[in-house]
Amino acid sequence: MTPSLTFLGAAGTVTGSRFLLDTRRSRVLLECGLFQGLKELRLRNWAPPPFDPASLSAVLLSHAHIDHSGYLPRLAKAGFTGPIYCTNGTADLLRIMLPDAAHLQEEEADYANRHGTSTHTPALPLFTVDDAEKALGLVRPVKVNRPVGVGRQVSTRFIRSGHILGAAIMEVGVGDLKVVHSGDLGRYNVPIMPDPEPVAEADILLVESTYGNRLHPREDPAAVLVTAVNRAVDQKGWLLIPAFAVGRSQEVLYTLRELEEAGRIPSLAVYLDSPMAIEATAIYAQHPEEEDPDLAKVVSAGKRPFVPRRFHLARSVQDSKALNDVDGPVIVISGSGMATGGRVLHHLSHRLPDPRTTVLFGGYQAAGTRGRLLRDGAKGVRIFGADIPVRASIRVSDAYSAHADQGEILRWLKGFNRPPRMTYIVHGEPEAAQALKEKIGQDLGWPATVAEAGASVPLQ
Ligand SMILES: [Zn+2]
Repeated sequence: MTPSLTFLGAAGTVTGSRFLLDTRRSRVLLECGLFQGLKELRLRNWAPPPFDPASLSAVLLSHAHIDHSGYLPRLAKAGFTGPIYCTNGTADLLRIMLPDAAHLQEEEADYANRHGTSTHTPALPLFTVDDAEKALGLVRPVKVNRPVGVGRQVSTRFIRSGHILGAAIMEVGVGDLKVVHSGDLGRYNVPIMPDPEPVAEADILLVESTYGNRLHPREDPAAVLVTAVNRAVDQKGWLLIPAFAVGRSQEVLYTLRELEEAGRIPSLAVYLDSPMAIEATAIYAQHPEEEDPDLAKVVSAGKRPFVPRRFHLARSVQDSKALNDVDGPVIVISGSGMATGGRVLHHLSHRLPDPRTTVLFGGYQAAGTRGRLLRDGAKGVRIFGADIPVRASIRVSDAYSAHADQGEILRWLKGFNRPPRMTYIVHGEPEAAQALKEKIGQDLGWPATVAEAGASVPLQ
C-alpha cells in the first residue's frame, strides 16, 4: 500500500480540519478539529469517523483552536488512546479550551432538552467534560523545532506559525518523504505574535486558504479600534467586542494599553468578560519563549502587556450579569468571537437594539454564524429564541485577523527553496481556495489543487 492522505475536513470549508495519513505501518491523524458554522457542517461531527480510532498511532495538532482540536474528546470517547503531539503552548491552551467546548456541548443538549428544540429525546452532547479530560490525558507536549518520532517511520517537527500562542506549521516525515502542513498561518509584523517561520522544502504541501482571495486592509490595525472607542465615548454607549478568548482578546487588550499610553484613546473602563479569555491571558503571559520582540520589550520594561489602566475581570456569571447595569462609555470584551455562543449573546441581546452601542467584530466570521449575519448588515438576529432588532453600529476589522492574507501566504510560500511536488489547498471556502490555487500557479508556477472533501491522494 502506498502511503496516502485523506482529507476528512477543512476541504472546501474552513472548519473541521482532519487529515488522515496512512502508511502501511502507521496511521496518523493530522489535526482533529470540529466542524463549526452551518448546521449541515455541524452535523458532520456526529458521523462516525471513517477509520477505527483505536487503530491510530498518534494525533498531531497544529494549534489549540477548536476547529483544529475540538474533535479530540469525541475521538477519545470513540476509543482513541494514543498520544496527541503538540507544542507546549498548545497543550496549555487545550487544558482550558477542550473543557470549555465540552461545557458548551453539554449546555446545548441541556437547553434542547428543557425547551424541546431537538428532534432527539433526550438530546445528547457531542462530548462531555469527562471526554475532554480523557483526551487531555493523552496530550504529549513537545518543544518547537525538535523532531519527534510519532509512529513507525513517521516523525514530526513543529515550526512557529505565528497564528496564536503555540501555533505551529507541522513538518511530517513519512519515510523519505516530507509532508508539510501550514496549519493556520499568522501574519507578519503584528503585535504579540512572531512572524510565520519559513520552511525550506516539502514533497507534499498542505496550505491554508482562509483569506486565499483577500488582502487585509493596509490601514493601521489600531485605527479601527480608535474610531470604535471614540464612538463609544461620543455616544456614552457600550463598545462590545465579541472576541475569541485566545489570541484576539490578548491582542485587543495589548492594543488598548498601547493606545492609552500613546494618548490616542481615553482610559475607559475595560471589562474582560470571559473566564476562558482571563485564563488564556494568563497563559500568554507565561510563555515568554513564544514572544515576539516587541512584546518582549514591553515585558522587560516591567509593564504588564495585557493590562489597560482601568481593567476589570468578570469571572463569574454574577460578574457578567452585573455588567447589565454598567452604563457607557465602557469597553466589554466577551466571547464567543463569532457570536455563536457564550456570554456575548446576553450582551448582544441587551445592547443590539440600542443605537448608542458599537459592536466591533475582529477577524473571520464563518458562514452561518450570527457574526457573519451582523457583519453582512442583518437588521435583526435571533438570540435565545427571540428576534433582536439591530440598531447598534456594527464595525468589522479584518485588520485584526490572526490569519495571513493572500499576499502573506505567498510570502511564506516563497520561502521554499524548491516547489513541492503537489500543493493541496485546504481550510478555505471554495472561492478563497480556488483563488489561492490560481495565484500559486501564476506567481510560483507550482502544481496546486484544491483538496476535495473525502478524497484520498497517494503520497508517492
Ligand atoms: Zn486557528
